[in-house]
Amino acid sequence: MSDIQFFGHIIDGEEVESLDGARFDVWNPWTQEVFAQAAEAGAADAARAVESSRRAFEEGPWPRMGRAERAAAIHRLADLMEERADDLARLDSTNMGKPFAQAKHDVGRSVWNFRFFADHQRDHVGEVYPMDSGHHSYSEFGPAGVVAAISPWNFPLMMATWKIAPAIAWGNTCIIKPSEDTPASVTLLGRLAIEAGFPPGVLNVLNGHGAPAGAALTADERVDRVTFTGSSTTGKAVMASAATHLAPVSLELGGKGANLVFDDADLDNAVHWAVEAIFRNSGQICLAGSRLFVQSGVHDEFMDRFRAAAEALVIGDPFDPATRFSVLASRRHFEKVRGYVESVEEQGGKVLTGGVDEDGAWLVRPTIVTDLPLTAPQYCEEIFGPVCVVNRFETEDDVVALANDTRYGLNAMVFTENLSRAHRVSSRLRAGTVWVNCFFIRDLRTPFGGVGDSGVGREGGNFSREFFTEPKAVVMQIDRG
Ligand code: NAD
Repeated sequence: MSDIQFFGHIIDGEEVESLDGARFDVWNPWTQEVFAQAAEAGAADAARAVESSRRAFEEGPWPRMGRAERAAAIHRLADLMEERADDLARLDSTNMGKPFAQAKHDVGRSVWNFRFFADHQRDHVGEVYPMDSGHHSYSEFGPAGVVAAISPWNFPLMMATWKIAPAIAWGNTCIIKPSEDTPASVTLLGRLAIEAGFPPGVLNVLNGHGAPAGAALTADERVDRVTFTGSSTTGKAVMASAATHLAPVSLELGGKGANLVFDDADLDNAVHWAVEAIFRNSGQICLAGSRLFVQSGVHDEFMDRFRAAAEALVIGDPFDPATRFSVLASRRHFEKVRGYVESVEEQGGKVLTGGVDEDGAWLVRPTIVTDLPLTAPQYCEEIFGPVCVVNRFETEDDVVALANDTRYGLNAMVFTENLSRAHRVSSRLRAGTVWVNCFFIRDLRTPFGGVGDSGVGREGGNFSREFFTEPKAVVMQIDRG
């Protein structure tokens, strides 16, 4: 084990061990081997990271520098990420089993997160309102302070950068705590930030578990904002903890996305996206189209094609270029998904295709389930795996009611060639994002977030600006006459 990699914390411009030297194992779910170790933060390490970011905010150049200079620094980091794109992608594939081509795509999106917010903070500086009363008022968006960002394992680099990028672009300093399952790529990002010349403390990486590391960050009263992506249950704990010192929270939580295929859909397109929506990343996507509703007129044809496309996905080693689908990210998660799949029949459902691999891999094949009652856990709860529950529907009203009958509300998909229906149904769906005839396409200017148990607040474009700054109004008298 002596030559395995080590991922330390990045604190105050240096890569360091935990104060007590504690470490935890980092797994490769494809080989089922430990390929690295990471520093395991305790409360004292979290405090050290916060202290460093606080100092960088109070005394360092970052919040005070010109917008162009800050943007240039962030673009420099993005350049380095592009140079090291293969290394970043390799770490995510190794660490959570994602096919390498998909990990490369995620790196591109992560780079874009930085470039987008670097430019956005230059272009959306504030608003000016000449007033009829002879005053002039304007808004100013100053940085909020120290941001604690906590991210999940399903898109290790992309989810972390979605939080770090707006936080630092708006002049804050940031501590990111990646998931304990996937510390690798974010630690490399922290190393690249040092190489890019970021002042110490602007981006600290704290590795460790939810408790004590994450919990210590959210409870620390020197933290001004908490941005969290993860499960709804943890989100509630994060919100309660941040509330003790009134730190605003942004929570991006779980989902149970509804995918609506109408009789008039372009079936080639609908099948393609239905497969992407539930089987990409082995279904470990908050936005997964895990509840699929198909209208009666196309139901049988759609299901034949959907099943064939699911069965055609090439399953294998994340580093084989042919692979489209691979293992689940950890043994713990595999056991959870396996439990849902193996109890389908006892809940009254049928497994049309897929199921658990019996060869000892942490693999659940692309799985399509029918005939489940609407009260079954597989239908109501977020499985976060490659399990699609399908229902037939008759009318638009019926399917809108079905789609909205969930405590989640992150996203939905609508497949129809009828323009009026597309707008009407999108407007009636209770969800933060609706994709019409597509899936997973993002414009970073638009709001992103969820309704109900899917989250609190929105990020993206000016929504991120509102969260990561302290907006201020300045009102000035300009006319005494
Ligand atoms: P999780 O809630 O178990 O963990 C998320 C992060 O929170 C990890 O870094 C973890 O260490 C940390 N954490 C755990 N307990 C904590 C505590 N008490 N205080 C502070 N931090 C704590 O989630 P996960 O299993 O890593 O991720 C999967 C979940 O994330 C799914 O529910 C998925 O839908 C959701 N997700 C949501 C979005 C979105 O944008 N809405 C995106 C990706 C994933």
